[in-house]
Amino acid sequence: MTVRTETFEAHLRMLSAQGYHIVPLADVVKWIEGGPDSLPAKAVAITADDGHRSVFEVMMPIVLRERIPVTLFIYPSAISNASYALTWDQLRALKRTGLFEIQSHSYWHPNFNTERKRLAPAAFRALAHGQLRRARERLEQELGGSVRWLAWPFGIYDQELMEIAETEGVEAAFSLEGRPAAASSPRLALPRYLMVDACDDRCLGRLLGDIATQSASSGPRNRSVQGAARRAAPSPNR
Ligand SMILES: [Zn+2]
Repeated sequence: MTVRTETFEAHLRMLSAQGYHIVPLADVVKWIEGGPDSLPAKAVAITADDGHRSVFEVMMPIVLRERIPVTLFIYPSAISNASYALTWDQLRALKRTGLFEIQSHSYWHPNFNTERKRLAPAAFRALAHGQLRRARERLEQELGGSVRWLAWPFGIYDQELMEIAETEGVEAAFSLEGRPAAASSPRLALPRYLMVDACDDRCLGRLLGDIATQSASSGPRNRSVQGAARRAAPSPNR
């Protein structure tokens, strides 16, 4: 969500000190898809949604200094448009660093629960298809490369939306359910932790430490984190 720079840097120091490996989100997706067992133990992926200017102004210098991979989920309607948002040139510069992966967060970040109440079923489906298709087309046109992942706006998804995403060629989609990703996690609803400033380095350490402990007790491979996924993880802002 929003964290102060000092909090983000404290998180990174804790991850390094505790032996976590910050991996590209692509490695997690490959692992979920049953690819090679290439994920190191204590693997963590970092994502940032919405494309605020601070990604370029504040986060990028830290990412370059630390050489860590980050995935951005962007909704194109804001880019080079909203005052708080990145520009397309900034996104291209971020991508050129080789450390930022840029993927879809729908076209204008609708609340699919609200839209479903407002629209007839066919109109809702048309909206959802259009949101995913237009976002992918615009991102590919502006930035090149291929867009195949989606972060659900507000983390909202359901079976119908997952089927629409599948039709639109989405290969992996991400929610905001605070639990570890497991080999058994649904490919179109992979959980993420929403990080808030109130969760300092010790809070994040506890959050991840609980997962690592569960994982270690149920087997040597980190595929066994699925055991931890079934229990409710502590809320990051508690
Ligand atoms: Zn968002």
